[in-house]
Amino acid sequence: MEKLPEFLSYGRQLIDEDDIQTVIETLRSPFLTQGPKIKEFEQAIADYVGAKYAVAYSNGTAALHGACYAAGIEEGDEVITTPITFAASANCVRYMGGTVVFADIDKETYNIDPLEIERKITPKTKAIIPVDFTGQPADMDKIMEIAKKNNLVVIEDGAHSLGAEYKGEKVGTFADMTMFSFHPVKPITTAEGGIIVTNSEEFYKKLLLFRSHGIEKTPYSLEQGDWYYEMTDLGFNYRMTDLQAALGLSQLNKLETFLERRRKIAQLYNEAFKKIPEITIPKQLEATNSGWHLYMIQLDEKIDRKEIFNKMRAQNIGVHVHYIPVYWHPYYQNLGYEKGICPVAENWYDRALTLPIHPNMTDDDVQLVAKNLIELVKN
Ligand SMILES: *Cc1c(COP(=O)(O)O)cnc(C)c1O
Repeated sequence: MEKLPEFLSYGRQLIDEDDIQTVIETLRSPFLTQGPKIKEFEQAIADYVGAKYAVAYSNGTAALHGACYAAGIEEGDEVITTPITFAASANCVRYMGGTVVFADIDKETYNIDPLEIERKITPKTKAIIPVDFTGQPADMDKIMEIAKKNNLVVIEDGAHSLGAEYKGEKVGTFADMTMFSFHPVKPITTAEGGIIVTNSEEFYKKLLLFRSHGIEKTPYSLEQGDWYYEMTDLGFNYRMTDLQAALGLSQLNKLETFLERRRKIAQLYNEAFKKIPEITIPKQLEATNSGWHLYMIQLDEKIDRKEIFNKMRAQNIGVHVHYIPVYWHPYYQNLGYEKGICPVAENWYDRALTLPIHPNMTDDDVQLVAKNLIELVKN
């Protein structure tokens, strides 16, 4: 075994001098929030993914909440998502009083299985929230076909997949609404931040309203005078600041370099583990070009994952496990979800391990992680 001199996290941001300068310039400008940088950032993201509209939010979770509001989710509605995701993909449904229904995953791509979605549809189903888990787009053609047939809204959780491609096109226009997160471990960062992109003017207007207290200028308020506005629904203050948007604009310029680096690292891992039967590398659908937010392997059933995890951590290698099946959490257990409802996901979870992948890593870092892991699984 060879210990790394410093702890290597599974993911982290890469901030350079022009990111810092951009934020400083914005600090000196008249607007710290509700200024021009937000619109500029929204336009840049919309252009990048080829969508008509984008609405920036204070974080990805708030953005998902906004999308569920725009989709009209309410008590009594069922929304289908995957159990192998961060809790926010399901929690956003709960914020609106809806019921979360978990559909099992495909054991090779780790993404929600379209056949399992179909099995979970009832007359109460209102929406689907597929997640582009690890950065690999979910099987969106099949999911949109199911949605069309059953008149469902699709909110794609693209927290991992900004810049990823499905059938040659960037994630962002397959679903009715798509969310990207800008948390520091995500493809680009604004510290905290999120966005919804959509081609629907109706959703766009609702997303704007919900982000800013439910306040708008109505025909009546215009009649009253320039100061007048009306609060027409109960919204939140979910606004992104101009500081965040400025950082996002600067980071977006580097996204292609980041993606290139992540793809190279994934390729190095794939090569290293190709002939190691104890390690299953993540399968990629031919139609997808992942953004490689996470690199996740499956360990052989006979291997003690916890032991490998602890021994890798002892070498300063920040392995992790993404994610605990959402309905295993006490909050969902207390709502009555039983363990065992998504057996493929649970079996996958028992064997899953996340290896470090981010643009700061050198080839040597990657080789060291691979070498240590191979040595451990061989013993
Ligand atoms: C990070 C993440 C979110 C939430 O994004 P935040 O910006 O952290 O609120 C939602 N879904 C998934 C899959 C995520 O990884």
